[in-house]
Amino acid sequence: MGTCRTRRSLLFATVLIACRPSAAHDAPAPPVEATELSVDRGPSELDPLQVAITVDDLPAHGPTIDGLTRLAVHQALLAAFASHEVPQVYGFVNAQSLERAPELRAPLEAWVAAGHPLGNHTYSHPSLREIGLDDYFADIAQNEPTLDALAPGGVRTPTFRYPYLLEGMSREDTLAIRAHLDERGYRDAPVTIDFYDWAFNAAFARCTAAGNSRAVQAIEKTYMAHAMEMLAWSDAAAQALYGRRIPHVLLIHAGAINAGLIEPLLDAMEAEGVEWISLDDALADPVYAETYVHEGRNQGTLLDQKIDTEGGEHPPRHTHPRALLEAMCTESAP
Ligand SMILES: [Zn+2]
Repeated sequence: MGTCRTRRSLLFATVLIACRPSAAHDAPAPPVEATELSVDRGPSELDPLQVAITVDDLPAHGPTIDGLTRLAVHQALLAAFASHEVPQVYGFVNAQSLERAPELRAPLEAWVAAGHPLGNHTYSHPSLREIGLDDYFADIAQNEPTLDALAPGGVRTPTFRYPYLLEGMSREDTLAIRAHLDERGYRDAPVTIDFYDWAFNAAFARCTAAGNSRAVQAIEKTYMAHAMEMLAWSDAAAQALYGRRIPHVLLIHAGAINAGLIEPLLDAMEAEGVEWISLDDALADPVYAETYVHEGRNQGTLLDQKIDTEGGEHPPRHTHPRALLEAMCTESAP
């Protein structure tokens, strides 16, 4: 049995119990005790919950659906960012898509025209599980001409987002990649809120294609619920790990499901007190100057990496409905 403490959640107006599992972080969470709980800080005493939005896999994330172009996906995202006054949303690009479909330059041009910057997400979205460092470095470089060409005045702040948030399969490789990025003038764009929206997108596309509207509704409802759960988890985990609220970086993808849900997503987060900030402002916080590396694979959000490397108190982790999503609408039609 580990140690537990109480914290009032601004997000759900409930009391979370942050427990330290007695073993590794992925050990089963200890039972939650339903007791009368004291609260040491009220929500009004907390700093605002600030979130920078970032979008990965421009200009072609995952499967799309009939009648929805890639350009329309990006336009829906950009319209929501404008109406919610979200500043500086970095879009992280895989330029290989333009080889197969040159018209996909238009979504990237729309992104820049809307005043938002583009970052490097590698050329072909390779996995470090499958390629070596030399090929990985070449893939990063291959993405740069497109980013340079699209940058206003050819000027950009080199900013990198790791595909799969996978930073290395070993301590040595992780450090070598970081050194390489540093030499090329890149800053890393870590994530602190990741609700695996990509897993919802694939199921959404399959169920839409199958005409299964009940399944689509269930996916959308679960998407929203899990997004809000992970917002709350990341906020509570950061407070437990750092002793204060931190500015967060949210990861979503340029996918079909996000085009339809970006408005309700931003509404729901604002209803929980979220204020939108730029990535520059988020990264100015000292927590983003800290990096973590441990033996073996280094992957996940900044909070995951801190927990994996140093341990520390954090709320029980949520279970992602990924396995259920992967099974939805996969049966062949009768
Ligand atoms: Zn990606």
